[in-house]
Amino acid sequence: MNGKATTRAKLERGRGALGPALELVHTGRAPTRAVLTAELGVTRATAGAVAAELEALGLIRVDSRPGAAAGSQGRPSHRLSVDDTGPVVLAAQIHADGFRAALVGLGGRIVATAPARRTVTADPAQVLGEVVEVGAGLLRAAGRRCVGAGLAVPSAVAEPEGTALNPLHLAWPAGAPVREIFAERVGAAGIEGPAFTGNDVNLAALAEHRHGAGRGAQHLLCVATGHRGVGGALVLDGRLHTGSSGLALEVGHLTVNPEGRPCYCGGKGCLDVEADPLAFLTAAGREPGPEVSLLQQSRDLLRTDGTDPTVRRAVEELIDRLGLGLAGLVNILNPDRIILGGLHKELLEADPDRLRAVVADRSLWGRSGGVPILACTLDHNSLVGAAEVAWQPILDDPLAALAP
Ligand SMILES: [Zn+2]
Repeated sequence: MNGKATTRAKLERGRGALGPALELVHTGRAPTRAVLTAELGVTRATAGAVAAELEALGLIRVDSRPGAAAGSQGRPSHRLSVDDTGPVVLAAQIHADGFRAALVGLGGRIVATAPARRTVTADPAQVLGEVVEVGAGLLRAAGRRCVGAGLAVPSAVAEPEGTALNPLHLAWPAGAPVREIFAERVGAAGIEGPAFTGNDVNLAALAEHRHGAGRGAQHLLCVATGHRGVGGALVLDGRLHTGSSGLALEVGHLTVNPEGRPCYCGGKGCLDVEADPLAFLTAAGREPGPEVSLLQQSRDLLRTDGTDPTVRRAVEELIDRLGLGLAGLVNILNPDRIILGGLHKELLEADPDRLRAVVADRSLWGRSGGVPILACTLDHNSLVGAAEVAWQPILDDPLAALAP
């Protein structure tokens, strides 16, 4: 039996391990072949064959000179890393203030991105056509193989239809078939691979769970306000909890101020209208301008006037409302970690003690144990999450997904 046939025989045994092995390298949990061997629970020979096959597929790199003392017995081991010349996916994000396209490699690495566009018209087909066109331009410039596409939208996405049910802060019609339109535009642009669509905060939570502040959490709750409105997501044992038809975790419509502002949903005083950037600027007595996004205006205000008494009061008001919403979620969901994104991350950083105290005082379980509340750590986490869903078929079965 020649060497190649031996490797093939080992790989047959290890084929089922290719996906899990790739996910371990992708999420940084297997930095060496020794760790990979231990994590997979296979023999060193099988782990070696699996790593070699992933390298042959152009997905990872195996450092040929063992140098890292990271083996179980402290022995030197071959370092593993994602191949930074390997395939990419196209990621796109639409939000209330514009849209952005990027190419994302394994490891959640943004390889290339174009400047954000600042207009989102009322026609989803036009917007999705534009964002795919920008992405196609990035692909031409990068010259990398594209293996799929993912889109993040600021709306609940109904399953299995893939429709944007409540794009409240866009002028899009409710129920727009965004997944179908996106897939059609991706195909028309000659971009290879399947196309996926999801809610922006769901995708952000997935990205943070794999690469950021949510790593290692079993019941991860993510709450965020990017541009307008408030979204939530729950990642259970590594999988997004999306409910029976994709609509779970609409945390934006929890009532946090019964006498508050009218909400787009028909209710009053929802988190959505009481704890987003517009609510913050209004509470601080500022007239929002059109020059930059509401999130950026809020960040600028915190940075330049964070000690101004009016701004300080606005911070406290928003923290108290957000904390009230989080306390209710803690009682219902019993998460082991909460991560906050967008303006909520800035609010946490502005006064972590106040937010943690509100959650602890107002929740049953918060008082007894204390749930860690952390800031999201990834730049563009919704974009990285859109890429995660596009990578998923390859993470599930690399050989099948990349077969010519
Ligand atoms: Zn509402």
